[in-house]
Amino acid sequence: MAAVIIDGKTVAEKIRARIKAEVAKLKSKPGLAAILVGENPASKVYVDIKRKTCDEVGIYSELYKLPDSTTEKELLQLIGKLNENKKIHAILVQMPLPKHISEEKILAAIALEKDVDGFSPENIGKLVSGKEASVPCTPKGVIRLLEEYKIEILGKNAVVIGRSNIVGKPVALMLLNRDATVTVCHSKTTDLAKHTRNADILVVAAGKPKLVTADMVKEGAVVIDVGINRVDGKLVGDVDFETVSRKAGYITPVPKGVGPMTVAMLIENTLDLFRKNPSRQLSTGPSRNSDLGVNQKTEN
Ligand code: NAD
Repeated sequence: MAAVIIDGKTVAEKIRARIKAEVAKLKSKPGLAAILVGENPASKVYVDIKRKTCDEVGIYSELYKLPDSTTEKELLQLIGKLNENKKIHAILVQMPLPKHISEEKILAAIALEKDVDGFSPENIGKLVSGKEASVPCTPKGVIRLLEEYKIEILGKNAVVIGRSNIVGKPVALMLLNRDATVTVCHSKTTDLAKHTRNADILVVAAGKPKLVTADMVKEGAVVIDVGINRVDGKLVGDVDFETVSRKAGYITPVPKGVGPMTVAMLIENTLDLFRKNPSRQLSTGPSRNSDLGVNQKTEN
């Protein structure tokens, strides 16, 4: 039987509409600062979508597009200023950063109360200890899709392909926190199919088109495809959708699956941080320019 298609686009639209209505009722606006360093084309697209979504729901945003030559010190200075900026409640540094900048140092410099992506050491620690606070947006979007479709996690065998700090590990921890029995597979895993065939819930985040084929999936399994790959000019995930969708019980498409949820979770996290920090809820007005070679900045 054909799988139920998990419609991330529609779920994300509902979340955006809810946030827009909630923001409209506020006396002052939540603010998000997004920082992009370098010329990674995919990162540019993601940051632009995030900014447009802020505009759509009435969240104030500042976008800092910095050249590849930006030094670690300059980026740390910018984060320091944003940490103090009362109009900004959430700071996002788009990954990956150029090689000469330590991602670890940058993430640790973001004030805990503005850590919208949940990548700071403290928030990762909370996630590991089962006391989730700000959690990374893509993993949060995966869990939200399961919840929206009333897919039980407790007691299920969940297999995650990918162990990156931004997707694989946090999604595995979130599944574990919800009482799944979790297996994490990665590029050194031998006999991947042996593990995936055991999955009631299979989350794939490897960045490898057609990595998961129908023979690797249990009949009726829930398959969440996080992968985004461009093949012959088309966006595809990591799962062979054609064949797997005939065997799985539920499946996310690419595009219109997890992708829109990541952005929806980002604005939800921004609103959450705003609500948790009333002292920073000042009304928005014109903001000063940074002296760090910022070449584009938008406000709404
Ligand atoms: P990454 O490159 O940092 O990590 C990939 C992981 O996959 C690694 O842990 C690696 O060990 C594992 N892997 C690679 N090849 C494998 C194989 N053959 N078998 C088993 N494991 C293998 O990537 P990432 O940042 O975690 O992103 C993963 C994918 O998700 C990418 O396609 C990325 O574009 C996409 N992504 C999508 C969203 C979204 O919003 N939908 C957000 C972030 C990332």
